[in-house]
Amino acid sequence: MPVVLVVDDEADSLRALSQELESRYGAHYRILACGSARAALAILTELRAGNGDVALVLADQWMPATSGVELLARVRELHPTARRGLLISWGDRSTVAPIIAATALGQIEFYLPKPSWSPDEEFHLALTASLGEWWRQRGGRYEAVTVIGGENQARSHEIRDLLTRNSVPFGFHRNDSAAGLAALDRLGLRAEQGPVVALHSGAVLVDPTNAEVGQALGVDVRPPERTYDLLIVGAGPAGLAAAVYGTSEGLRTAVLEREAFGGQAGTSSLIRNYPGFPWGVSGVELAWRVYQQAWTFGTQFVYGNPATSLAAAGGSYVLGLQDGSEVTGRAVVIAGGASYRRLGVPELEGLVGAGVFYGAATVQAQAMSGGHAVVVGGGNSAGQAALHLSRYARQVSVLVRSRSLAESMSDYLIQQIDAASTVDVRYGVEVVGGGGDGRLEFLRVRDRLSGDVESMPAAGLFVLIGAEPFTEWLPDRLGRDRWGYLLTGPDARWSWPLERAPLPLETTMPGVFAVGDVRHGSVKRVASAVGEGSMCIHQVHQYLALPHAPG
Ligand SMILES: Cc1cc2nc3c(=O)[nH]c(=O)nc-3n(C[C@H](O)[C@H](O)[C@H](O)COP(=O)(O)OP(=O)(O)OC[C@H]3O[C@@H](n4cnc5c(N)ncnc54)[C@H](O)[C@@H]3O)c2cc1C
Repeated sequence: MPVVLVVDDEADSLRALSQELESRYGAHYRILACGSARAALAILTELRAGNGDVALVLADQWMPATSGVELLARVRELHPTARRGLLISWGDRSTVAPIIAATALGQIEFYLPKPSWSPDEEFHLALTASLGEWWRQRGGRYEAVTVIGGENQARSHEIRDLLTRNSVPFGFHRNDSAAGLAALDRLGLRAEQGPVVALHSGAVLVDPTNAEVGQALGVDVRPPERTYDLLIVGAGPAGLAAAVYGTSEGLRTAVLEREAFGGQAGTSSLIRNYPGFPWGVSGVELAWRVYQQAWTFGTQFVYGNPATSLAAAGGSYVLGLQDGSEVTGRAVVIAGGASYRRLGVPELEGLVGAGVFYGAATVQAQAMSGGHAVVVGGGNSAGQAALHLSRYARQVSVLVRSRSLAESMSDYLIQQIDAASTVDVRYGVEVVGGGGDGRLEFLRVRDRLSGDVESMPAAGLFVLIGAEPFTEWLPDRLGRDRWGYLLTGPDARWSWPLERAPLPLETTMPGVFAVGDVRHGSVKRVASAVGEGSMCIHQVHQYLALPHAPG
């Protein structure tokens, strides 16, 4: 059973904590209690040697010799995935400074007052949320799907990434492992046929498309109805928020998503700046909650069949879908976001999925255990990826073209990177090549000033160098800036066809709105995307109430 370890030097307090934990979690976790940081480190070292699973360590802040924060900071070295909670006493102001510093440096996941009565449900709420996050990252729960594929096969990586981002619990067998070969044999398949997706229901898909996987899991791949009040393209934070507000305010709404509910946010291991989540929230968890919320209000979701055209027709709009089908909406919200910019190094493009990854390292992080991971990029997403990888990799190098991170990365991330002993930052450099035998093994990195090229070993390359909008499928009538981002409101006036002014989030096509990262001038944050998605619904209502609007 995974271990929950509690550490407190006050005997009465330790006894009470231990009883509280044992009575609530004893059936599923091994509860261990000890009275000093030293004893705790000895237990953790022993557990590590015996491959013991540690889910959670709770430590009182004020203990002699070693404080709770100091102990918890060291837990990361021994058990990188264990969650760490700092215990404090109610009203103890002396813990304020250590809590703020430890949170900024990523040394604890959360703090909480010790339980003051039993059962203290507030205390348990924090604990179960933390244990839930541990299980989510660890995997190995119920497996709705089993994927059998090559470890370094691009499509096998993509499928696992999609299942993770869409919150589908799955197991993975390499197609050259004993379990993988036995499963293939049972199904009468061969590894060369491509990745295999076997569902709990008995369905077996060979080298499937995203839509085929979605369909087998019971998701609509075509809109169930022909016409809607509102069509939303994209189910990132902006599109999901628009769906919640649209359906909750009476609009028949369909959302089209081509890849993963949650969009880019679903690739973020920990979003720390979204209001209401003081300890941060993983992008997948946040997206899952908003998806559920929209679904319970009645939003219809269509997966894996992206919008490929938009045309005005009789006062409404018709979206053409990839499979040739069409759907009509009285108004349209474009929330297509943006996708990662490519490195443009041909020899590395061939290794995408085989050590080279665009976007954050959610699926592949564990595979970096003991290796050297390289992150390219100087923004917040690169900073988060480096810190997430540092839980597993022996060393993480962040490569940036500029001479400083100050302008591109939030200060709290810079502080955490400075404090992480296994993360180094190399300034003024760029990746110019690399390769390996069937998978990435080394990179060639050039110093931009001297021109010198050095070779460095790399088990994984994670590229997070900004994004480009998904707008190539839209008609020319929709005004864009020179990078392709959609013009809205005052910016849309230059080619606006009507006498009335465009609404603030309306594009150059009346009744077509743009929200989130796809919009020119957007802030490129989860909260602002959610804000725009929510507020655009008011404007959709205003538009639909206009005399000429489609009925
Ligand atoms: C790794 C990473 C970490 C981040 N961390 C943070 C953070 O900590 N805090 C923060 O505030 N922000 C963070 N961001 C930025 C944040 O995620 C984005 O600003 C936000 O997701 C934008 O939301 P969106 O809905 O506008 O677009 P997106 O999230 O890009 O979603 C757009 C969706 O539209 C879909 N789509 C596109 N075209 C079509 C089409 N034609 N048909 C159907 N579907 C389509 C895409 O598949 C995608 O799912 C991070 C970004 C990344 C990549």
